[in-house]
Amino acid sequence: MSLNHIRPWRNIYRRKSRQIMVGNVPVGGDAPITVQTMTNTLTPDVKATLAQVQAAADAGADIVRISIPDEDSSRALKEIVRESPVPIVADIHFHYKRGIEAAEAGAACLRINPGNIGSEARVKEVIKAARDHNCSIRIGVNAGSLEKHLLEKYGEPCPDAMVESGLDHIKILQDNDFHEFKISCKASDVFMAAAAYQQLADATDAPIHLGITEAGGLMTGTIKSAIGLGNLLWMGIGDTIRVSLSADPVEEVKVGYEILKSLGLRHRGVNIISCPSCARQGFDVIKTVEALEKRLEHIKTPMSLSIIGCVVNGPGEALMTDVGFTGGGNGAGMVYLAGKQSHKMSNDQMIEHIVEEVEKKAAELDAETAQEAAE
Ligand code: SF4
Repeated sequence: MSLNHIRPWRNIYRRKSRQIMVGNVPVGGDAPITVQTMTNTLTPDVKATLAQVQAAADAGADIVRISIPDEDSSRALKEIVRESPVPIVADIHFHYKRGIEAAEAGAACLRINPGNIGSEARVKEVIKAARDHNCSIRIGVNAGSLEKHLLEKYGEPCPDAMVESGLDHIKILQDNDFHEFKISCKASDVFMAAAAYQQLADATDAPIHLGITEAGGLMTGTIKSAIGLGNLLWMGIGDTIRVSLSADPVEEVKVGYEILKSLGLRHRGVNIISCPSCARQGFDVIKTVEALEKRLEHIKTPMSLSIIGCVVNGPGEALMTDVGFTGGGNGAGMVYLAGKQSHKMSNDQMIEHIVEEVEKKAAELDAETAQEAAE
């Protein structure tokens, strides 16, 4: 249960946005903030692409995006959509025909900028295809690919230019009476992206897709995204997020979730609280946490686990977690359950034992949730 009512410093007041559907997943309004990623296999390789979609979904992705650069990809999309456990967004650039094909193939959403696909007649055709196939649209403004006239007007990519581009694309959809859209305005520069998103949040009530584009590798990209997306989410801006990393899509999903979990915006799986370790540690904290992170990946139930090297911080952290372990002397430590000291456990058996305790607690919490839902 959220205790935010007694901890007001944890409250985040979410910007009010319209809600749209991406397949069966609501985005915006009071829907949970969703996590997205994108495949990087060749789309016509249906087997490899589906394997990546499945792995991302297993890691918690709510929505997955796939590039549709050619007709072969549109054909493959049909098969992928049929088998995918999550809604698929088709990523389209410039080719209006790919947009129509993707909508016909069952994409839940098109990522397309209506201002970049040519004549009014072509725009209307794509919008019609989207409407006919219950497909929403994401306008995806990117500081690196702004329209020429905006670059001339503003001199260089900047938040004003990005927002103007976004509003121009919105107008095209609205003029065609199409309102099932969300919007992003990404930049690799954290300051530019954050400023653009803030302006955009004031200028439209459309759901907002957050992202820091080309953020970098796993480490640098995670930090950049945590700062950029973290700040915006903290301000209440953002209805769906994608962390862009030069890394496996599964890593993007994990980082996305961790950002949301850190802000209490979504809960999934075991939140491990662990100390950095020092000379006082009663067991090898770093190796243990590494092992537990892997061993507990299958747990989807939101819960907490504290793994603390010694009694300096162990009992205090254990007070606030579902399961806890605090290092002690003589090769053994103390196990805490629901904040209370429970029993001693030897270090060499503790990983196995903690996995069992966490699984037991997860089953208990799941049963409670099912009971509440039935009442
Ligand atoms: S909890 Fe103990 S072992 Fe961990 S960092 Fe603090 S003093 Fe060191």
